[in-house]
Amino acid sequence: MRLVVLGPPGAGKGTQSARLMQKYGIPQLSTGDMLRAAAGTPAGSRVKALVDSGSLVPDEVVLKIIAARIEQPDAAAGFILDGFPRTVKQAEALDELLRAKNMKLDAVIELKVDESALLGRIDRRAKEMVAKGCAVRADDNPEAFKTRLAAYREMTAPVSDYYARQGLLKTVDGMAPIDRVAAQIDRAAESSARV
Ligand code: AMP
Repeated sequence: MRLVVLGPPGAGKGTQSARLMQKYGIPQLSTGDMLRAAAGTPAGSRVKALVDSGSLVPDEVVLKIIAARIEQPDAAAGFILDGFPRTVKQAEALDELLRAKNMKLDAVIELKVDESALLGRIDRRAKEMVAKGCAVRADDNPEAFKTRLAAYREMTAPVSDYYARQGLLKTVDGMAPIDRVAAQIDRAAESSARV
């Protein structure tokens, strides 16, 4: 099963992708996690500045990382792309990458969430991290959130249309309780699975 999970910041992509990883036994490929890890390297200070501010990292950088990750043996049986693609250019490049391997996506799941609820969710996530004694993401604050939402509207929303034109887009109500969101995603994924 090869899935893409789309949605604005705070929509629940990470939570649902992690659950799908457990359910299907295929890796969750989060470009955000990969970029945060890369940001910790000496060469990653530019990436870190972009991620921390909420701006998108250049397509070439993300594409290089994802192309290498998809080649890993654990991704051979499938994967859940969490936070990628975020631009139409990335979506086109992913199509190319998959075509070269004779593979296709099964479905693209879009989490639809009222924008007015998103900042509250991000704020709650930050407070939960503090309560657990974990580090708060540098971009989980109102300033970076504004930039992330603007990037989503401008660059990522067109990705939904791109997949809708391919007949792959499944839209799920991300405002529902987590288990109901999960059930909708499972139905969408199972009705689309190629094998
Ligand atoms: P996320 O963990 O998915 O919320 O991503 C956190 C940040 O990583 C984003 O705000 C971007 O700065 C960067 N990022 C993650 N995925 C991508 C992507 N596919 N293209 C460009 N930037 C990305």
